[in-house]
Amino acid sequence: MTSAEIHQAIKKLNFLGSALYVAAHPDDENTRLISWLANEAKANTAYLSLTRGDGGQNLIGPEIESLLGLIRTQELLAARRVDGGKQLFSRANDFGFSKHPDETMKIWNKEEVLSDVVWAIRKWQPDIVINRFDHRTPGTTHGHHTASGILSLEACELAGNPGSYPNQIPLAGTWKPARVFLNISSFFFRNREEFEKSDKSNMAQVDVGVYYPALGKSNTEIAAESRSMHKCQGFGSAGVRGSEPEYLELLKGTMPKEKSNLFEGINTTWSRVPGGVPIGKILAAVEAGFKPENPAASVPQLMQAYRLIEQLPDGYWKSVKRAEIQEVIKACLGLFHEALAAEPSATPGESVSLRIEVIQRLGVPVRLEKVRFASMGSDTTFAMPLEVNKRVNWSRRATLSTDMPMSNPYWLNEHSALGLYSVPEQSLRGLPETPRQLKAEFHYTIAGIPIVYSCDVAYKDTDPVDGEVYQPFEVTPPVYTRLDSKVYLFADSKAQEVTATVKAGKPGIQGTLQLEAPAGWTVQPAEVSFMVKRKGEELPFRFTVTPPAGQSDGTLTAVARLEGKTWHRSLLEIKYDHIPVQTVLLDAHSRIVRIDLKKAGSKVGYVSGAGDDIPASLRAIGYEVELLEGPDLNPQNLAKYDAVITGVRAYNTNDDLQFKNAQLLEYVKNGGTLIVQYNTNSELRVPASEIGPFPLRISRDRVTVEEAEMRFLLPEHPVLNYPNKITAADFEGWVQERGLYFPDQWDKAYAAPLSCNDPGEPAKNGALLVAKHGQGHFVYTGLSFFREFPSGVPGAFRLFANLISIGKTPKP
Ligand SMILES: [Zn+2]
Repeated sequence: MTSAEIHQAIKKLNFLGSALYVAAHPDDENTRLISWLANEAKANTAYLSLTRGDGGQNLIGPEIESLLGLIRTQELLAARRVDGGKQLFSRANDFGFSKHPDETMKIWNKEEVLSDVVWAIRKWQPDIVINRFDHRTPGTTHGHHTASGILSLEACELAGNPGSYPNQIPLAGTWKPARVFLNISSFFFRNREEFEKSDKSNMAQVDVGVYYPALGKSNTEIAAESRSMHKCQGFGSAGVRGSEPEYLELLKGTMPKEKSNLFEGINTTWSRVPGGVPIGKILAAVEAGFKPENPAASVPQLMQAYRLIEQLPDGYWKSVKRAEIQEVIKACLGLFHEALAAEPSATPGESVSLRIEVIQRLGVPVRLEKVRFASMGSDTTFAMPLEVNKRVNWSRRATLSTDMPMSNPYWLNEHSALGLYSVPEQSLRGLPETPRQLKAEFHYTIAGIPIVYSCDVAYKDTDPVDGEVYQPFEVTPPVYTRLDSKVYLFADSKAQEVTATVKAGKPGIQGTLQLEAPAGWTVQPAEVSFMVKRKGEELPFRFTVTPPAGQSDGTLTAVARLEGKTWHRSLLEIKYDHIPVQTVLLDAHSRIVRIDLKKAGSKVGYVSGAGDDIPASLRAIGYEVELLEGPDLNPQNLAKYDAVITGVRAYNTNDDLQFKNAQLLEYVKNGGTLIVQYNTNSELRVPASEIGPFPLRISRDRVTVEEAEMRFLLPEHPVLNYPNKITAADFEGWVQERGLYFPDQWDKAYAAPLSCNDPGEPAKNGALLVAKHGQGHFVYTGLSFFREFPSGVPGAFRLFANLISIGKTPKP
């Protein structure tokens, strides 16, 4: 902290008010208001994001789902470091788009998420709660959004009632916020003009464009820097300067008379804490007498206030203000301490080398009494004064206890339902990160008063480009295992080779490795022995896996046995410049599938679209796949293929098709089979009506419920019968959805053998269209084969094999 920032922090010590901002996703939060609350109002401010943003796209890397949620968690923490807020979550999972809050709350499990919002309010004790989304407008925005408004309002009532979620009471007590607001946004209105003309009599109004001379920035500039941390969503934004009104509709409580004073009538002085008045007197004097050129002069009085805070009974403001004043004292002294491990990770029971540095750089007497590593039962006593601006360094070895838990995001430790992460331990719920096990405690006496600082042990590296880089110190397993594919497909009863890799998490490991397969499958050898000398070294082993005769699927796991325990996790590192390195332990599980599959035809050509794994999946079940480009797309060349397939959105993205579609249709006419996967109806390279030999119209129809019933409108149609007899069982186990961008109008030359729909919606019959053209066949399908194949869904492969086989029925 600079002297100006220290002075800001001292002023904040004298404001005892708190605020909680509530919404659904990382990026929903209004960083202008959060920054205003933290820096201008100086309130203890948190953003409760119900989800970690696990759904959606990642603009900066390959991570999706829970791994994307992990990145967005860290981006929110990075944003809060900029705007001065804190970050909270619930266990709700961002499972994907939801049309209505009723659906959202069914999938989330309303009672559980509501209990988490109540928990957040009881723990944070906000005087004011601010909702981002209107609870009264279901269906007008993402269901998660409206649900966040509904849950927040309900929780504000329940949190004050000791009969609600009584298991939380001994840990957090009850709390009732004084005011609840809705943060009105111009997005709620059709246009800016309508927003400006709207009735604002029931709205508080604050100016979030204030300028902070101590920081040299406008509040709105800080807010833009904060928002720009949402990098995986591409929300870099530019700062604006100048007055900016922000409107808050009052939902509960009384409207402040002075409409910009959100905390009006709430005691926000030290007198709200029993025993707090003398602390307030001292800190008022510190604020008034602060000397920017000599911040250390404030330390004796700050230590007096610290001693009185320590003597308060345990409570919310004691813990908030103790942490704040510790940081102020440290900054006033130029006090620096850190404990670094020589390596970024170690395993339980392993000995680690620790380097410790302590220095105080300004002139108040500071004694270093001892440094303690509680979780390792290690104490070093110094009992010596620290000389001003003289660095003290030493190192020592210490041993991690054998029962130390592995570092991992706590919400990913257990298998979870679609809508809710499983977190059995109440005290962990809502925390942004897993608390670190390995901590160093620095015990000082400053101005005659004892004070203890606790900090996480870290790892530090000097990067030739970035310079000093800190990363968290991790407790990791002694051995990792990994399989070489996420899905293994067996289209017949032939055995296949599978490679499993062992990686040493510590030096000199010796054990055995085996593959656990479902019943009916055999693995050879049953077990192999391994010996790995160096930490980080990997050894691959090959196993032969033989499937059963009939259809079967399940999980294949690589399990290592070491020192009497089993291990089956691999380590994933996520590295980006704007967040700390994240490590995640993932199960070394893969799907293993024996598909009862018959094929007619074996050679297919593939015209790539926007990118999918269909060619690799088709090869895995025995097809010969060749990728086709412009010059290949002529009827003479195509004649050698049993079918030609276009990738997802090929007619949106592949320029070759713009000029070669007529040639493809000529190939069909001559007896070929063309299978066109889904395209969107905008920016088509070829008009939708001209993609096939007969007109069709592409709509936005999609069926997002993956279990939606599949009705067979033409049960005798060849694509449902040859060579694989398709039944309802073939539509079981589909993932994410049935399909998307189905045609909603088509020429009568097309047959539509399948029908499905989302609950409450009319039947959609355009999922699969088949037409005879000349001697050949044209197929248009929006079914999500591109999602089902990588997940190894057997029925999807059987149906696709029938599409390739069409027209090849044996002559009677
Ligand atoms: Zn959102």
